Amino acid sequence: MGRLDLGPHSFIWGTPLNVWICKSCDHQYAPKSVQDLRNHANHSVPDDLELHKPYVDKITLTCLKCQGEMERTKEVIDVWFDSGSMPFAQYHYPFENKGLFEKQFPADVVVEGVDQTRGWFYSLLAVSSLFTGKPFFTNGYFSLGHILDEDGRKCPKSKGNVINPMDFVEKYGQMHFVGPSFWSIVRHGT
Ligand SMILES: [Zn+2]
Repeated sequence: MGRLDLGPHSFIWGTPLNVWICKSCDHQYAPKSVQDLRNHANHSVPDDLELHKPYVDKITLTCLKCQGEMERTKEVIDVWFDSGSMPFAQYHYPFENKGLFEKQFPADVVVEGVDQTRGWFYSLLAVSSLFTGKPFFTNGYFSLGHILDEDGRKCPKSKGNVINPMDFVEKYGQMHFVGPSFWSIVRHGT
């Protein structure tokens, strides 16, 4: 498996890295929750705190080591980190919904398109392994190929050649979706 690249990247578009750095002594601190962030802030934090840029960068903390001012590090991390946190973030776990989370995690089976393997699957696996010590699925993982049109092009809605899968199944049967392997590309119309 490849390395999950969390960044950091010095871009605007990404997940703000959850690390504050002291301007005086370089001490670093990663708040464990919104409440923890509020507790360490050196000013009042609005009730409707927005954790995205540029709003989160206005929050400054008091350094635990020297009482200096801490600012969030400028880097952001790859947004796949957010996607990989889905099993936990959707229930705001571990802060609430513990029972609901434990009933549904890990998933029995995961099915996704081949183009999601490197991004979503890797990030799910990495976050899940780091956070719980186990993968996010128990019984299987299927990665499906793409359905292509008669010219070999993918069929996104934006290209105007999208195929309604139910129309396709009714006309040709569901087995036309399955190629020699789950990794294959199925091309129709030829
Ligand atoms: Zn300091």
